[in-house]
Amino acid sequence: MPHRLYRDMQVAMNKKRNDLILLLSIVLVTALVLIVFHFLKTDGATVTVTKNGEKYATYPLMQDAEIKLSGAQGHATLIIEDGQAYIKDASCSDKLCIKQGKINKNGETIVCLPNKLVITVNSDDDPAVIS
Ligand SMILES: [Zn+2]
Repeated sequence: MPHRLYRDMQVAMNKKRNDLILLLSIVLVTALVLIVFHFLKTDGATVTVTKNGEKYATYPLMQDAEIKLSGAQGHATLIIEDGQAYIKDASCSDKLCIKQGKINKNGETIVCLPNKLVITVNSDDDPAVIS
């Protein structure tokens, strides 16, 4: 009788462990899918430059480039490097656009108020880019 009880306990524990493994697998797969989805979703594909509220140009983020932009008050140099965009040099007095650093995530922006320039990262499937 005690032996039987022991076996029942073993079976019950095994079942519990299998449930746990199954649960862990589901959690892991879900996490993995979310992570992949997260990266696909938020990593921007293009950089859109808006000047004075109007779309000026769009550049691919995956292609390194140095772009001279002419703003309302002078020039600004936009650098695209290693999938990131930033302002290297600008004629504006506050240099806030340079201080804003590098952007590469969907929806991130660099604004140069004196030059009325806005640089925005967009994903490929963003309808705002296609329109
Ligand atoms: Zn600026």
